[in-house]
Amino acid sequence: MTSSSTPAFFPRRVLGHLALVGVIVALVGIFATILVWRAMTNLETRRLEMEFRSEAEELAGKVSQDIDEAIFNLHSIAAFYEASSEVTREEFSTYCRPLLQRNKMIEALEWVPRVSHEARAEFERTAREEGLDDAFEFREQGSSGENRRRDAEEYYPVYFVEPAAGNEKALGFDLASNPARLKALNQARKTGEPVATAPISLDQGSDKKNGILIFCRIDDKHGRFEGFALGVFKADNLLRRNCDRARANELEIEFYDKPDIGDRALIYSSDPATAEGQPAEESDFSITLDLDVAGRHWQVVCRTAPLYQVGRRSWYPAVILLSGLTLTFLATLYVSVRARSERELEARVAERTAELEVARDAAETASRVKSRFLANMSHEIRTPLNGILGMNNLLLETELSAQQREYQVLMEQSAESLLTILNDILDFSKVEAGKLELVSEPFLLRKTLTDILRFLEPQTAGKRLELKGDIHQEVPDALMGDVSRLRQVLINLLGNALKFTDTGVVSLEVRVEEKRGGEVVLHFLVSDTGIGISEKQQQEIFQPFSQVDIATTRARGGTGLGLAISVQLLELMSGHIWVESALGKGTAFHFTARFNLCVDREKAVAEGAPAEEKIPTGPPLHFLLVEDGKVNQVVAVNMLKKWGYTASIVTNGREALEALEKAPDGFFDGVLMDVQMPEMDGYEATRLIRQREAQSGKHLPVIAMTANAMKGDREKCLEAGMDAYVPKPVRAKELLSAITRTCS
Ligand code: ADP
Repeated sequence: MTSSSTPAFFPRRVLGHLALVGVIVALVGIFATILVWRAMTNLETRRLEMEFRSEAEELAGKVSQDIDEAIFNLHSIAAFYEASSEVTREEFSTYCRPLLQRNKMIEALEWVPRVSHEARAEFERTAREEGLDDAFEFREQGSSGENRRRDAEEYYPVYFVEPAAGNEKALGFDLASNPARLKALNQARKTGEPVATAPISLDQGSDKKNGILIFCRIDDKHGRFEGFALGVFKADNLLRRNCDRARANELEIEFYDKPDIGDRALIYSSDPATAEGQPAEESDFSITLDLDVAGRHWQVVCRTAPLYQVGRRSWYPAVILLSGLTLTFLATLYVSVRARSERELEARVAERTAELEVARDAAETASRVKSRFLANMSHEIRTPLNGILGMNNLLLETELSAQQREYQVLMEQSAESLLTILNDILDFSKVEAGKLELVSEPFLLRKTLTDILRFLEPQTAGKRLELKGDIHQEVPDALMGDVSRLRQVLINLLGNALKFTDTGVVSLEVRVEEKRGGEVVLHFLVSDTGIGISEKQQQEIFQPFSQVDIATTRARGGTGLGLAISVQLLELMSGHIWVESALGKGTAFHFTARFNLCVDREKAVAEGAPAEEKIPTGPPLHFLLVEDGKVNQVVAVNMLKKWGYTASIVTNGREALEALEKAPDGFFDGVLMDVQMPEMDGYEATRLIRQREAQSGKHLPVIAMTANAMKGDREKCLEAGMDAYVPKPVRAKELLSAITRTCS
């Protein structure tokens, strides 16, 4: 794992500026909190203002309702008059008394008749007879407050009053003598609706305008105008109830009379200070409402007292402010703690990366050492194996008893399987090192598959087993690809199938999976009716060195590398491999591989033709055999002898150079050169041969015969100037093919 793949909360760029990030988080948090808090506060204020408005409107509504109730009493007096032919002072008193008792807002109720000048004396006389003052007469108020007689066309005197006690002075007062009242009277007479006066002073001699009068026209039952019912209201009584209610709710309320012209006049105030004429205190909210009071325009000013908001304000804004600041604090704290731990983590990751790099270097070194070891071991094993196989071949060609021949054949088989194992291990190490590369050569698929089946056929011997192949018709024949690797995969799968099946059928089927442009993907199916593989084992068999059952393996052989190598080879062929199997029923291995189509069939035919090992017909050839191993010398010489060839033997590169020096021109037809030798190796000797030839312009064929079978060994030989490469153990066919190609 490298540090760049560590999942980090902060991008690496930011990690260096974490102090700044902390400050930014704090500032943004505070700013956002204040913003939200302000918004909440504004909302709260708006809510309080709405609440205040509705309280104020409710109060004004209550005042209006009270006044309407009071006016209703005047209407009831009007109705009383209309219903009676005559109302005596006594009857008026009796009718009004309960009304006054019920409605404490009314100061007094009065009867104000219209009296013509002619009827005046009669009215005054009757009043005196009813027990009023002997000197009773209609009168007006003089400019200095004294009562004086009044003469006019028409009078509106206060004639009855209830309660009488305390209101004696009002009796006889001609309301028409006061222009303001006369105006209200005329309006009430004209409209038939109750009409109020502007505020007046009810206390004799006082300027304080503390009351209002309301007139209501009275007609007789024939609809003739008779006079007015008059209600006297003290502002205090009329309005105090609602003012007290307002104060209880931390509100102040003021009532003004607003004439059409001139300044408004204060009627009543809940606030003693403003009642005394002082200016009102600053308030949070205030509202002015209009009220129609019996035809007069009143203004109700309602405002909040200083403590209005106490207890009404909600805690939300404060809670939000507090939570916001707390969250900001926590976020800032989190950022700094997290930042610190990430910095520590970064440091740890860097440390670990360094350690891992050291470990990787060590592993790479170990892998190189392993590869070198493998190459050496492979070389060391191949060399004696070459001897064993070669000598065995020679022995088989001599006179042997039947038993000896049988033993020899068994020995050959053992040596061959040892070679297979050696090749598998070598392949696997190449795959592991990523050094396995495919070649692309033309080949004929049908011929290749037929050869494979023919090659494996002997393995069915002794079993009731049929080995068959089915290549679908649409499968193209001439292809380009690494045929020997395809052969390796197929031999491994078919070999396994034959190995693990005792009766039934082992079959190979090939069909086209996909064909596009110059490419074809083939689907191969190798199935058998053998022992099968359990589901659990199916997961594992593609891993290297995995074998289902050690006992079976011992009985049937194998390294456990075949499938692992096949997986890698098929990957290189852009294909894949999978298995379907049931224990006891059989196994089917499927694989796909991609090939190029070969346009030149002739070429494929030619390449595919195997080098037949038949006795060459050309002239006998003489070789210089450069080989330090005694056994291998014998093997090679005898192989050559079979074909009628001869060889001079030297044991290292230096001797080879000397022999070539001494020999006359054309003495040797070619050199068979081992590579690893004491004193001078094959590479160097070949290089020197080629150097010398540079002057003479001749070219002596040099064929490498080496146990170096790793990747690149063939290239190294060709680079050194050799003409062909035959790996050990040397196959007669291969050597002859190389000789035919280079020396004839
Ligand atoms: P090996 O060289 O041991 O055959 P492979 O990788 O080719 O190695 O196979 C691994 C193991 O998978 C075998 O040892 C065997 O247990 C199992 N196996 C492979 N093919 C078959 C098959 N056709 N039938 C049953 N078992 C199989």
